[in-house]
Amino acid sequence: MMRAMLVMGVVSMIAFTNRAGEGAGVSAEDAGWAVQRQAMVAQLKVYHITNTCVLAAMGRIRRQVFIPAAYRNVNNAYADAPFPIGSGQTISQPYIVAYMTEKLALKPGDKVLEIGTGSGYQAAVLAECGADVYSIEIIPELARHARAALDAEGYQRIHILTGDGYKGWPEYSPFDAIIVTCAPDEVPKALVDQLKEGGRLIVPVGRGSQRLVILRKQRGQVEQEEDLPVRFVPMVRE
Ligand code: SAH
Repeated sequence: MMRAMLVMGVVSMIAFTNRAGEGAGVSAEDAGWAVQRQAMVAQLKVYHITNTCVLAAMGRIRRQVFIPAAYRNVNNAYADAPFPIGSGQTISQPYIVAYMTEKLALKPGDKVLEIGTGSGYQAAVLAECGADVYSIEIIPELARHARAALDAEGYQRIHILTGDGYKGWPEYSPFDAIIVTCAPDEVPKALVDQLKEGGRLIVPVGRGSQRLVILRKQRGQVEQEEDLPVRFVPMVRE
């Protein structure tokens, strides 16, 4: 037992060293973030997030990198709350990221469309869960920041498009799953059309008071279920 714990300790030290990309050990700053990150994952478990790939992904991804430096501080990167990322937008609360990802029931290799790249953090979680990720962001400055953060963290394979996600991304459709992280007034029809047979779509719907809507396409029929009350920034149109 003791030996297993020691081995785990060594493995995680190596993982830190590689992630930091410096090869000179773990900086005090990185170690501090890692402690906060593990506390965040422990909190997600208390909130009944059980999906192992979601927990592993969120335990691995350096969330602080996705918060632009001007907005980053020790209190916001891993706290269970949404935080500003500039341009009037926010990075979603960790619990909501975990909950929505878990609801997508991803399988390795699933093609996933995200509307509202924002910081890029949710896209990284999807990629860590084995998805082939396509993400659309309407604000060019945020799309640029997300691209840089994702590249820096090794997620070059994630595709990002600057534009209006209301119309989806027809060139790459159909998708196994679609996740929307800004709130339209109603479920965009183009997104339902771009969902594969057997696919899942999760979207916060409404103005002011919003609900998560989970939609499944089965044998050509669309089943829709209302879920948690939530608060997302509105989906804007071009
Ligand atoms: N998933 C993000 C959170 C994004 S906040 C993360 O992990 O950080 C919602 C984002 O949706 C904002 O960045 C906002 O600019 C974007 N957005 C709003 N309307 C949009 C639209 N029509 N198409 C694409 N992105 C949109």
